Amino acid sequence: MMFDFAIIGAGPAGNMAAWQLAKQGYKTIVFEEHNSIGFPVRCAGLVSEHVIKMHDEGILNEIKGAIAVFPDGKEIVIGGDRTHAFVIDRHIFDSSLAEKAMAEGAEYILGKKVKKIIAREFFEIEGIKARRLIGADGPKSLVARQFKMGEIAFFNAIQGYGKYEMDEEFVKIFLSNEIAPGFFAWIVPADKARIGLATLNKNVRKYFNAFLKKLGASTNEITAGLIPFGLRKFARKRIALVGDAAGQTKATSGGGLYAGMKASVILAENAEDFLEYESSYMGSVGKELRKCILMRKILNRMGDKGLNSIAVIVEENIDLINKYGDIDYPSIVVKEIAKRHPFKTLAAIAKAFI
Ligand SMILES: Cc1cc2nc3c(=O)[nH]c(=O)nc-3n(C[C@H](O)[C@H](O)[C@H](O)COP(=O)(O)OP(=O)(O)OC[C@H]3O[C@@H](n4cnc5c(N)ncnc54)[C@H](O)[C@@H]3O)c2cc1C
Repeated sequence: MMFDFAIIGAGPAGNMAAWQLAKQGYKTIVFEEHNSIGFPVRCAGLVSEHVIKMHDEGILNEIKGAIAVFPDGKEIVIGGDRTHAFVIDRHIFDSSLAEKAMAEGAEYILGKKVKKIIAREFFEIEGIKARRLIGADGPKSLVARQFKMGEIAFFNAIQGYGKYEMDEEFVKIFLSNEIAPGFFAWIVPADKARIGLATLNKNVRKYFNAFLKKLGASTNEITAGLIPFGLRKFARKRIALVGDAAGQTKATSGGGLYAGMKASVILAENAEDFLEYESSYMGSVGKELRKCILMRKILNRMGDKGLNSIAVIVEENIDLINKYGDIDYPSIVVKEIAKRHPFKTLAAIAKAFI
């Protein structure tokens, strides 16, 4: 039997693609290396309403705002007015999405790590044939490597579950190159607090231990993972990448669920034309991802002194942040602040490069 699409990886991006394609009547098969979908969890599970509108299973908590802790210790409360984000259980979220795909006729092969894909006029994986191939196989994507779809950089991330006394409606983020060089640390409240950090430094465990010590917290079920920093070329005529495999994560926050799942929706809308999928995505969500990469580069050149000066800008513009803040489109609020303070913004950017 010839499938229309073979998808490698049953994470949120792969399951979303399978669901959307199967719904249109395409014969779709998904290969997943683990026996169970949604394990192991390498994610804080913090998502926006945009994600919940696509798939709303596994919600554990509603988040009204964030407390940002700057390098000099200043704490600023952002939001608080309404629900800005949700915390999800990734196991429930991912597996229920796969169930939607199965209900539309998508087939799943679990417990099968794909090691090689034979490419002829069709693709052959473990004796199964498909007309087209979709790599939804995460940051270390076999599909991207085998078909040489480009190299990207990564943040090293680590997270555990623990107890931490905090307001259940606010996430806490720690912006400091001493705590998490090149990124930030987080505490996301849910049934169990998700405590983690990401950094450009390879020695992520050392920073994590120091962070836990600073908090006076301990965690279990610790997992480490990679967060893409950069976008790959993600479409060829018969091969496409979605999600982390393509590098579709926000370099500002590391969030990848929205960008990856939206990619799968756009891919399914262009199921017969992968090149159109790429150009349509890059004309929409991809544009924002590029802005996030630029913002991350600027932030990382600023150092802790620069981050402390951002705290002042945040305080002065809290009204704009609360009005325009959107975790999936952070450039919107930056643009509004730049409109209000064009010279200050330019000076801050220029400082980062001088
Ligand atoms: C510590 C951490 C915290 C994060 N927190 C958040 C957050 O709060 N919010 C957010 O939006 N994002 C977060 N992210 C990012 C988010 O987890 C990813 O963007 C998201 O999981 C990407 O989904 P995906 O489907 O592309 O890939 P994945 O979720 O990685 O799924 C890929 C799947 O492919 C399978 N696979 C891989 N290779 C093969 C193979 N050869 N054969 C068969 N199967 C294979 C894997 O087993 C896996 O199931 C976080 C990431 C990390 C590391």
